[in-house]
Amino acid sequence: MKFHIHTFGCQMNERDSERMAAWLSRAGHAPAADESGADLIIINTCSIRKKAEDKVYSLIGRLEKDKRNRPDLILAVAGCVAEQQGEALLRRFPGLNLVFGTHQIGRVAALVKQAQAGERVTAIGALPDADRLFGYLPFQRAPGVSTFVTIMEGCDNWCSYCVVPALRGREISRPPAEIINEVRALTYTGYREFTLIGQNVNSYRPAIGLNFIDILSLVAEIPDVLRLRFATSHPKDLSPELTRAFTEIPNLARHLHLPAQSGSNRVLAAMNRHYTREEYLEKVEKLRAACPDIAITTDMIIGFPGEEESDFRQTMKILDEARFDGSFSFVFSPRPGTRAADMAGTVENAEGKRRLKIFQDRQDEITLEINQALVGQVQKVLIEGINPKPRTRGAASLTGRTSGNKIVHLPGSLDLIGKITPVRITEAAIHSLRGTIEDNPVSSEARS
Ligand code: SF4
Repeated sequence: MKFHIHTFGCQMNERDSERMAAWLSRAGHAPAADESGADLIIINTCSIRKKAEDKVYSLIGRLEKDKRNRPDLILAVAGCVAEQQGEALLRRFPGLNLVFGTHQIGRVAALVKQAQAGERVTAIGALPDADRLFGYLPFQRAPGVSTFVTIMEGCDNWCSYCVVPALRGREISRPPAEIINEVRALTYTGYREFTLIGQNVNSYRPAIGLNFIDILSLVAEIPDVLRLRFATSHPKDLSPELTRAFTEIPNLARHLHLPAQSGSNRVLAAMNRHYTREEYLEKVEKLRAACPDIAITTDMIIGFPGEEESDFRQTMKILDEARFDGSFSFVFSPRPGTRAADMAGTVENAEGKRRLKIFQDRQDEITLEINQALVGQVQKVLIEGINPKPRTRGAASLTGRTSGNKIVHLPGSLDLIGKITPVRITEAAIHSLRGTIEDNPVSSEARS
């Protein structure tokens, strides 16, 4: 059977799709070149915001129509929407054959077999921890330079707006040996930059008693790991030891994504975030004191229930005080089953959008100012591949990233791909930089 997987949402979902592909391949199935050549289509879903969920429903609707001409096509929905909606999805979409949740990925081949036999299958709910970990297989990945490695799953924080704890379950950390073996194997296939991911990576705590700094250090020492990143961190778990790690681990990228979510203490308390704006800013200050060139990015939710103009001003203030290199910002989207969905003080959508635009416009100004300050500097750029949209046709144009995670386009030869090279920055825009190679020879040993 040929399969095709549509993936919505975060890097965790992308990793889950790779796990599904690995399990299906092990069971004798093969990936289809595209959707039209597939006998099985899986939609791996995201429900973090209503917009993401609506996209899923519209895709299911379209595929159901296609299925009228291909009645043997098996349609499956996986991931967070599946976990949340369960059997209701089968009732709403008669063309669906299979609905399976975030904990059932390791069972995908068996579930598909049931669907092939004509059953309409729902499989949701948590499995014992041992079975959750059993879901790991060497992932199937396209060749590349940068990749993600899952080190933990789930979350124990229960932020009042978030569906993750209910859908992904409580925190569970992957054994260090599995992580190290996976990273080592990926270096053999050419990967050089690794982002260790989890919903809450800095609370990584495997059963054998190591902590997050230990796993960072162990992975950093693997030969050919030129650069190491991690995401996502909860500000309350950003310890002095982790701050120090940025100065002590030479190939740890000088970038931290640290979701603030709001600049108002009142809103942060309603979000159940367990830190104040002052504590957040103090951590940022200490990070910059230890590592002045570190890039800090954030997430911000605008228009949380009860957010008044004065709260929003605090959010604007934290943006100016922390001077984030960039941010992902959204208008609050109530998610069924979360405490925030039932909170009073709804901010009208138009007002939320107005505030979001003010926030994003200011963020763009700050990002541009920070990026322009890099013009003339030499940055270590890990070359990731060919620039898909070169400015001049025919010119060899490469794309890479600085340690601070800024995209850089530069002319250069293909043999630089997978290497860290010094690049003098010549132009800066909001979303990318341009530069020229500063020096030769290039060292593949150079780190971060
Ligand atoms: S830390 Fe909060 S926002 Fe992040 S996954 Fe956990 S509950 Fe969700």
